[in-house]
Amino acid sequence: MRRPVSRPAMEFRLIDRIRERTAQGREDVRLGIGDDAALLAVPAGMELAVAIDTLVEGVHFPRGTSPADLGWKALAANLSDLAAMGATPAWALLALTLPEAMDAAAREAFVDGFADGFAALAQPQRLALVGGDTTRGPLAVSVAVHGFVPPGQALARAGARAGDAVLVTGTLGDAAAGLRLLQQGIGADDARAAPLVGRLNRPTPRLAAGLALRGRASACIDVSDGLLADLGHVCAASGAGAEIEAALLPRSPALLGLFDEAAALDFALAGGDDYELCFTVPAARVAEVQADLARLGCGAARIGRIVEGAGVRVRGADGAWLAPARRGWDHFAA
Ligand code: ADP
Ligand code: MG
Repeated sequence: MRRPVSRPAMEFRLIDRIRERTAQGREDVRLGIGDDAALLAVPAGMELAVAIDTLVEGVHFPRGTSPADLGWKALAANLSDLAAMGATPAWALLALTLPEAMDAAAREAFVDGFADGFAALAQPQRLALVGGDTTRGPLAVSVAVHGFVPPGQALARAGARAGDAVLVTGTLGDAAAGLRLLQQGIGADDARAAPLVGRLNRPTPRLAAGLALRGRASACIDVSDGLLADLGHVCAASGAGAEIEAALLPRSPALLGLFDEAAALDFALAGGDDYELCFTVPAARVAEVQADLARLGCGAARIGRIVEGAGVRVRGADGAWLAPARRGWDHFAA
């Protein structure tokens, strides 16, 4: 692309630093960072799954988030999307927008930390960063990922049927609780807050679980905006409704130790940033799927069922339907 003014050599040095820190040898990367476009070879007979996510400072992550945590989280949010499709990650692109106000040293420190956090998650997955863009403006990060899935085996949102069980991996609400603690001035240096803040800053994409669900889950989504909102997308896509039991929602000891039941329930239903998988399976296969996921180390709780109709309803511990205070993270709320 042509630019109105020539760019300082520093920008290219930043790209070099990113390349060095994220280096990953892959046969299918014919040409990576450094040319006008990357050249990539999709394995014969595979479908390509692609996703992109943008994180803007003050909107998607709090000011003060460390560059390394941001590098991890920006990739994790994307890998979570691939996990929810049952895809195996392969390649990523990174668009970084760095504030004008950062001087050269701050820019280098940011890029080094970011690339290290990104690589800490990318390397075990053998994911290669193959290109991107580096610009100036308000701090924002976009990552796009590419993965492979055998034709016809991707896990879609549509496909849930009345009678299917609804399950969710891991625990819900931790990240939202971690954000609340940060907003209260309690950080990761507090021993009781650390596991919750850790879930906010370094979420674990459930890639192995996504692969294990191929051919078994009737529908799947990752919980990024909150369980109610995301399960609501599954229901809308599937033309069905869901009934959830509040008492069955998996919540961590860390969350229940620091917040009362009402707050913990709100975080679990509508908090967001969990990056767990919410999926549906025919009732007869629940035990088998749970056993397999337990073997993979993430576990999955049965939280409710798919019903005829539309929308998500939550039954409280007393048997009455709840009216949740909010329905999940609305990107366009004022
Ligand atoms: P162009 O002007 O052709 O877009 P750039 O100068 O923006 O080229 O980028 C040079 C090379 O560095 C390209 O291969 C591009 O994909 C890569 N690149 C730029 N920024 C990043 C980044 N933040 N992370 C990874 N690769 C990057
Ligand atoms: Mg460019």
